[in-house]
Amino acid sequence: MSRTMSAVRTLSNYIGGSFVPPQSSQFLDDFNPATGERIARVPRSGAADVDAAVAAARNQVSASGRAELLEKIADGIEQRAEELAQLESQDTGKPVALARSVDIPRAILNFRFFAGAVRHDQTACHEMAGALNYTLRRPLGVVGLITPWNLPLYLLTWKTAPALGMGNSVVAKPSELTPLTAQALAEIIHDAGAPRGAFNLVHGLGPEAGQALVGHPGVAAISFTGGTATGAKVAASAAPQFKKLSLELGGKNPTVVFADADFEAAIAGTVRAGFLNQGQVCLCGSRVLVERKIYERFVEALVARVRSMKIGDPGDPKTELGALISPQHRDKVEGYVRLAKQEGGAVLCGGERPSLPPPVANGAFLAPTVIAGLSPSCRTATEEIFGPVVTVHPFDSEEEAVSLANGVRYGLAASVWTTDLARAHRVAGALAAGVVWVNCWLLRDLRTPFGGVKDSGVGREGGQWSLDFFSEVRNVCVALPAP
Ligand code: NAP
Repeated sequence: MSRTMSAVRTLSNYIGGSFVPPQSSQFLDDFNPATGERIARVPRSGAADVDAAVAAARNQVSASGRAELLEKIADGIEQRAEELAQLESQDTGKPVALARSVDIPRAILNFRFFAGAVRHDQTACHEMAGALNYTLRRPLGVVGLITPWNLPLYLLTWKTAPALGMGNSVVAKPSELTPLTAQALAEIIHDAGAPRGAFNLVHGLGPEAGQALVGHPGVAAISFTGGTATGAKVAASAAPQFKKLSLELGGKNPTVVFADADFEAAIAGTVRAGFLNQGQVCLCGSRVLVERKIYERFVEALVARVRSMKIGDPGDPKTELGALISPQHRDKVEGYVRLAKQEGGAVLCGGERPSLPPPVANGAFLAPTVIAGLSPSCRTATEEIFGPVVTVHPFDSEEEAVSLANGVRYGLAASVWTTDLARAHRVAGALAAGVVWVNCWLLRDLRTPFGGVKDSGVGREGGQWSLDFFSEVRNVCVALPAP
């Protein structure tokens, strides 16, 4: 099969070790959102394809070969790293520099990290009077992985590595908007010599292929990353079958800046947290809370920095902001900018489509946007926009900062900027978020628990938590009769 981008590629599902067309023979179009070009035809799979994949997903990787297989997959990604960065950029509209520096290295690391985790995994032994308990870890069977379009390979590998590492077989359903690197991952896993059926890929629409996977009685667990509304549907159909469920959902994350913060570091951190990947990271800090003493100076510096961001061709290594995922998504984000104005906000910069030269003249671009003057409880300031839009709000006290930060339905992440150590710990402890960063953002140690509270999700992934999710632990109690 062709390993390079031709004009329009036709993708296939990967089932039982073979690349196969969808049973419906129907395909969806995949577009490059920066140029509007059609770049691939994606299988529109349905329940029959999911059935075939679940039936094929019987071969699991033997316990002795798991870490080695994960290492080989990491090697395969590394060998195709530049091609994968290009594919990810074409599919998502993100700057290729970002794909090169974040998405693809992280995909490699996901496999290397879990190879190590699997090698070093230990289970417990509990001695008691007259008996010995020991814990066995066993695979779940077939697990379903459903992933979104914002970090396609990064998130798919984050789930695939521990799922295979714990001896499960996988059926993955990536977003149909960004199928290219998932297809390449199937090729890489194939080339790495994975047993037939250990990894299966079914492309298609969420309500069709995704729903069929979630509801399939042969699937023991679903690890889902996506929006909160979709997560609720996934939970509703998986729960009656008592599937194990991990839900990594949306966020509306606060960036909390105290007057004693390192000003320049806080500006740089706030811009990065607000606009990385065009603001399309679940962890993005889209609600910027600033202590009133420095509010005006901070907002002025923030707007100056945001105005200077280079937006345009994702292929240009100097580009900081690429295209949004689709024209439809840009419409949604623009709708929030209109709503912000109706809610009394002032758009301090951005909010409009930039004028760009070909080949990106008709791409789904939106200038990075800073909005002030909104009530922190209005819709713009509390709903997930998932685009290059931040709102800024002043606060007067630490208590008010915490209360504003916690005043949304989400609780995925937060970042706090202060040089007061005691305050940093106090505020970190009081924030209702699964991850709190202090004087940094998106600094990840893969051993740590990752996940959200409130409507941002259920369960944790990362390190031991991923191994626990993708396995079943069983206790064996052996009576030790007295001599
Ligand atoms: P989404 O619309 O919820 O879709 C996520 C995945 O679910 C896609 O593969 C989608 O397929 C599929 N899907 C849709 N309806 C389904 C159904 N009824 N049953 C099963 N699967 C279904 O999310 P998105 O717009 O792709 O991604 C953005 C969202 O993801 C944001 O809310 C963001 O915060 C969240 N996110 C969270 C994390 C985290 O770790 N917490 C990380 C990244 C992103 P289709 O693409 O075909 O609809």
